Amino acid sequence: MRIPIDRQSKTPITQQLANWLKESIRAGSLPRGMKLPATRALALELGISRITVQNAYALLESDGLIITREGSGTFVDPPQSIRHAPDQPVSKSWPFWQLAGEHEINPMMPVNVTHASEKLISFTGVGDPDQFPLRDFLHTLQDVIRRDGIEALSYGQFGAGYEPLRLTISRVLASQGIQTHPDQVLITSGSQQALSLVCQQLLREGDVVLVECPTYNLAIELFRRLKLKIIDVPVDENGLQVELIEPLLQVHTPRLFYTIPNFQNPTGACMSVARRKQLLALAAKYNIPILEDDFAGDLRYDGHSLPAIKALDMNGQVIYIGTFSKMLMPGMRVGYLVADGPIFNQLVKLKFVQDLTTSPLIQRALDDFVTVGRYQAHLRRTTRLYRQRRDALVSSLQSHLPQTTFFIPRGGLFLWLTLPDGVSASELLPLAIQQGVEFAPGTRFFANPEDGEHFIRLNFATNTLEDIETGILRLKSTLQII
Ligand code: PMP
Repeated sequence: MRIPIDRQSKTPITQQLANWLKESIRAGSLPRGMKLPATRALALELGISRITVQNAYALLESDGLIITREGSGTFVDPPQSIRHAPDQPVSKSWPFWQLAGEHEINPMMPVNVTHASEKLISFTGVGDPDQFPLRDFLHTLQDVIRRDGIEALSYGQFGAGYEPLRLTISRVLASQGIQTHPDQVLITSGSQQALSLVCQQLLREGDVVLVECPTYNLAIELFRRLKLKIIDVPVDENGLQVELIEPLLQVHTPRLFYTIPNFQNPTGACMSVARRKQLLALAAKYNIPILEDDFAGDLRYDGHSLPAIKALDMNGQVIYIGTFSKMLMPGMRVGYLVADGPIFNQLVKLKFVQDLTTSPLIQRALDDFVTVGRYQAHLRRTTRLYRQRRDALVSSLQSHLPQTTFFIPRGGLFLWLTLPDGVSASELLPLAIQQGVEFAPGTRFFANPEDGEHFIRLNFATNTLEDIETGILRLKSTLQII
């Protein structure tokens, strides 16, 4: 234990030691049941006499904070009343710099709600954790550690990421019509990091970013934190209404177009090919980069796939970002970015100073997982399942909530519901939770939250068919009491 002892202090060392241990027990960092070091070992480690340690332990024992059991040692054993309770704020006067950003605390940050009802059916979240290929991934991890040994646990090559994975990703992208060389693929810690890197590299405080309305809530939050100005353009069933953009460019000078063309978060809309081409043409004409966020592009349930904007781009106008979070597992934290031209190396350097590298072990495991075909098999399975769940949600809504309106998303995870007139999403949410059902209120997805009061986002991928039906019936009862 590296206990700070001040030999110049007027407080006796016994007291310093006892105070430090007491504080740590109170704070919970020395938890109940933890064995304390033997007095001789601690004295040696701290360079103090053994009797000093014995005296400090005796003080704590007389305060009832620790207990000595003959033959087995000394253990932390505080009474219930002083056991650490994380929700009890410790009154502290924080340094001034800590308080400077307090007003910026994000009200839309996802909170881990503990629900009164055990059986809460939540239409929030992303994929279904029960579908995560746990066993297969475990085998893959074991194989990788056996095969690569400590290499897998070292930093590995710095730069754009684990080379075989970059090659694998470029092959996956080729199957989606995006021709990219592995040297243009940068592995990131989730696509959220890719988003953040691009914004930090290309944009400065006060710059304008043009986004879909509504759009991904944590993109809005990132833009706010970077003090960017958000100009938003409405989305319809066929995605961003690109035809509305050019008049805006007479007034504003965006430095970035941010778009989610496939199964957009939150609306589920898919941008038509004509609009993709139109957006690219505008970007070229006005010299504005496009950041294409393809977070769930492989989760298609109907129709045929549409070319990525990146696949139509011949001039390095588009930076494409993808992720394994929705198609596989978010906890791996692996995403990627594809960019051509000088911007690529700038992004590689920025990533390096931010987190050195994305976990080399996980990059290796993911590469194995994809190359042996496990990823594709998983994708086929989940696509089949999520399609059934989408259909179940659509038919529940049609039967039980005919007063709401929506279009059927052709893929992805989300359905965007327009509430009946006069119902506000933020008033509905607490009542719905009381009825045992939860959703993401539309307010989260608008630069101006009030504009989202009329909408809710339902994730259809996470719940079983029975829970989807029960959840919608609960929503129906909530709408009846509001
Ligand atoms: N883009 C969109 C549209 C998202 O919805 C998300 C997460 N839900 C992300 C990017 C970031 O995901 P990740 O960092 O897990 O790849």
